[in-house]
Order: sequence, then structure tokens, then C-alpha cells
Amino acid sequence: MIARRDLKELIEWERKPGSPVLSVYLDVDQSRAANLNRGFEAALKNELRFVQEQLKGKKKREEFRKDTERVLNFISRYEPTQRGLVIFCDASRKFFWHRQVNVPVISRAYWSERPHVRPLLEAFDEFERYGVILTGKAQARVFTVFLREIEEHQEAFAEADVRHIKGAGSDHRRSQMNIQRKADEHARWHLKRVAELVEELSDKYAFDRMVLAGPAGVTSELYGLLPKRLRQRVVASRALPVDSKPHHVLMETLKIEEKVERAGERKLVRELITAAAKNERAAIGLESTITAAEEGRIWRFVYAEDFAPGGAECVKCEVLFPGTKRSCPYCRGKLRRVNDLVERLVKQVVSAGGKAEQVREAAAKKLTDAGGVGAFLRF
Ligand SMILES: [Zn+2]
Repeated sequence: MIARRDLKELIEWERKPGSPVLSVYLDVDQSRAANLNRGFEAALKNELRFVQEQLKGKKKREEFRKDTERVLNFISRYEPTQRGLVIFCDASRKFFWHRQVNVPVISRAYWSERPHVRPLLEAFDEFERYGVILTGKAQARVFTVFLREIEEHQEAFAEADVRHIKGAGSDHRRSQMNIQRKADEHARWHLKRVAELVEELSDKYAFDRMVLAGPAGVTSELYGLLPKRLRQRVVASRALPVDSKPHHVLMETLKIEEKVERAGERKLVRELITAAAKNERAAIGLESTITAAEEGRIWRFVYAEDFAPGGAECVKCEVLFPGTKRSCPYCRGKLRRVNDLVERLVKQVVSAGGKAEQVREAAAKKLTDAGGVGAFLRF
């Protein structure tokens, strides 16, 4: 699992003149046909060629060649197990950093004085950190689910060890009652302790949302013991055995995350359509969204899944057009065909510092009816 501290050395990178860093983002998702049979290698070589073509001067090219060699050497032995791969490499400083990420990545290479960490940071902002509190009557476990990976915090409840309650006394019936009362007291004490620890850990691990798991009676009691600010972060509770395998906890959490995300997308599309109707810094439909993108006004681009309209691009001024035209109305340049305008828009928006967001299912249907794409605008 990637933590912010892993990015520290990248963010605090000290630039060295004449020694740029090669940053590579690679879509290696094996559920996509284009990536099968190591198709991602060809995609990487294309991206590298694109960067190389912009370089001027023999020295720079030589420096770049050393970095690419190191990366290509790594890739030739690499087997993807997640959706994306991120690499930062500066051969002249013997620096090589790589991580797989389980989120969608747009393939792209950069060669610059500092590692290009922006897409990685954006992935962090976009994905929420879920805390899962799995509580039994006498135990509790805490997990973080982030970027589709799970981590159990073993240290969390070490101090909340349970002392067994021993029955004592000669009066059997009375001692039975005592045991019951003590057990109830203990369960209550245990849950209070869990609530306190949840408060501590939710700050320590920066949970955006929380899931309470365990027997139904226990989770509802725990919910009641949480302070209001934490209750607001609880998005669901699930009946799970306290000894569940982490993988099972992960699968349950991903299902919840999916539901929460879908609901967020429906809200986003509603807001987009309303804002566009009121002319409040929003664009809807291909034509007006493309215009806004050309003008660099988009900060949040929204598009429906499976919406991939073809179009054209001017070979001279690179302006995109939906549908078919004979020549560019701006410069009379020739046009070439573009297979997927949405893909081009995503790249354009992201490289201009904006965000691109795909919506699915019901939200996608609603957006498709309204033109398939839209955007919230900076001005
Ligand atoms: Zn043109």
C-alpha cells in the first residue's frame, strides 16, 4: 500500500542541473485488450519516443537514453499484477523508484527536473481512505482500505487485551448472576475503549469514511458511543465475524465503496446538469465542452462510461471537432480522424491541471441523455 510518506522523497526532490528525472505512468490493466500480450510495452515505447522527439542537443539525448534504458530493462522483466505502474528514474543519480497501483492510470512519460508526481497525488485525492472497525464482544480489529488494498493495524488493540472473567463464590446461582453482570460490564467497558481508540486512529490514519463491522448489536452500540463528528463518517455497518480474513473484509468494503461512489456520481451529474441549465460556469454536451477545453477553462471534466464518440482533429492547430467536417474552420488546415474524442479530452484536461471523472450506471445514462460529457469551468 502506498502511503504519503512514500512520496516524501519524491515531493522533496532536490533538482540537479542537467540531470532530469524520467517519470513514467503506465496503464498495465490486464482486463483491457490493448494491454494483453505485453501491449503496454509498445505503449511505453511510443510515449518515450514522443518525449525524445522534443529534446534538443546531443547531451540531453544521451542523458535521456540512459534513463529510458534502465526503465525499458525493468519493463522487459515486469509482470503486471495491478492496474497501473508508476516509475521514477534518474540513472545518473542511480535513482529508481517504482510502485504498482490498483487504480486506473493514463499512460504517459515525462522528463523533467523533478519527478512528475502530480497524477499520483491526484489519485490520492480522488480515492478515499476507508477505516473498517471490526468489533466482537471482546475483540476489535482496525483496517485501512485505500486504493483497493487493505492493511490491518495490528498494534491498534494490543493494549485492549481482554482479561477473562472468573466466576467465584460458593453460591452457585448468585455467582452465575455475578458472572453475567460482570460480562455485561466488561462488554460495555470494551466498547467504550474501542470508541476511544477509533477516535485516536481515525485521526492517525486520516479515515475519510468508516465502516462498522461485527455482530449487529455490537456495531449499533459502538455507533452510539462515537462522537458526532465520527458518526458522520460512518457510511455503513456490516455483520461480519470478528475473525474474518482481511481479504473478505476488503471485498465487503469495496462493495460499500462502490455504492457510495455511485451515489456520489449521481449527485455530481445532477449538479452538472443544473449548473449548465442555469449557465453557472458549466458546459454540457460535446461541442461546448470541447470549446471550454480549448480555452483551458475546465477544472472538472465529467464523462459517461462507454461514451466514445469519434471526430476529427486539425493537423495544424490541433483543435478537436465532433462529427465530420472537410477542413478546419479556424485555419483551413486538413483534418485527421480521431477515434475517441473523450480519451483526447481526458488527456487535454489532465495535462492542463484539471480533473477528469468518469461516471457509471444510472449517472452515465443520465449524462448520456444530456450529451455524454460536461464540465465544471474555472471561469
Ligand atoms: Zn486548424
